[in-house]
Amino acid sequence: MLQQTQVKTVLPYFKKFLLNFPTIDSLSESKEKKILKLWEGLGYYRRARNLLASSKIIVRQYKSKLPKEYKDIIKLPGIGDYTANALLAFVYNEPTLAIDGNVKRVFSRILNKNESKIDFKKIIDINKKKLFKSKRNSDLAEAIMEFGALVCKPKEPDCSGCDLKTMCKYFKSKNKYIKTPKTKPKVKSYNIFCYINQKNQIALTKKHKFGFLNNFYLPPMQEVKSKNLSKNWKYHSNFKNLISNKILDINLYYKHTSKNPFHSEWFSLKNNYEFIPSFTKRIFKQILKTN
Ligand code: SF4
Repeated sequence: MLQQTQVKTVLPYFKKFLLNFPTIDSLSESKEKKILKLWEGLGYYRRARNLLASSKIIVRQYKSKLPKEYKDIIKLPGIGDYTANALLAFVYNEPTLAIDGNVKRVFSRILNKNESKIDFKKIIDINKKKLFKSKRNSDLAEAIMEFGALVCKPKEPDCSGCDLKTMCKYFKSKNKYIKTPKTKPKVKSYNIFCYINQKNQIALTKKHKFGFLNNFYLPPMQEVKSKNLSKNWKYHSNFKNLISNKILDINLYYKHTSKNPFHSEWFSLKNNYEFIPSFTKRIFKQILKTN
């Protein structure tokens, strides 16, 4: 849940999720619909689907216990190198670190080097024997993350009170490294076509090719190079939506019709449906706002 999402946003979702699925078995037996409903508003729904898929594998192949080997954990859906290492450290106290943004910054500062020039895997491998001889490897992995979040902060590191300053090249150096600026999210333009009937219902379909909203209800949508007015459609409005690290620049078009225009279903614009993603609900809101 914490991927791309802040702790304060996640907390109520996390509590509710654990109340509904207190064990990996209960999660694996759940219907996808129920999980997506609990996830509603968190975005990045692929994470929820991956959790369900992983839980099924863990129950079936590993007797409901997380596998202990990196090579097995990394094969679970949605688990990349970062999460695999976090799980090994936190769950099994293995000598490894989860290299998140905070940890990268701490190492960058101590070495006074840009993150892109540091081989984090090599640092872990070299230090496995001398640094990680503790029964508290999980605490060490978490402590470095927390140290980055609370002391070696992104903007103003608290160097005066830092125990590492005697070994920190960033603190000692006159030529402090400059962090490479983050790449801006890409802007993509889309035309969205809303068929509306007399009951104020909108036609939605799951048959579309937009991977980031795979298997969710959407009106017909088309990626375009720029805003292009369509003859048969009335222009409604424009809005921007951030999704999967992309800024979607949306032009809404509409048309009144009583016929079901394609393999779709009608949905009332005023209902707060379960399983409709927040992105589609944003379209409902936009239409109602200016209707
Ligand atoms: S001395 Fe400052 S820059 Fe260096 S590790 Fe400590 S807080 Fe970070």
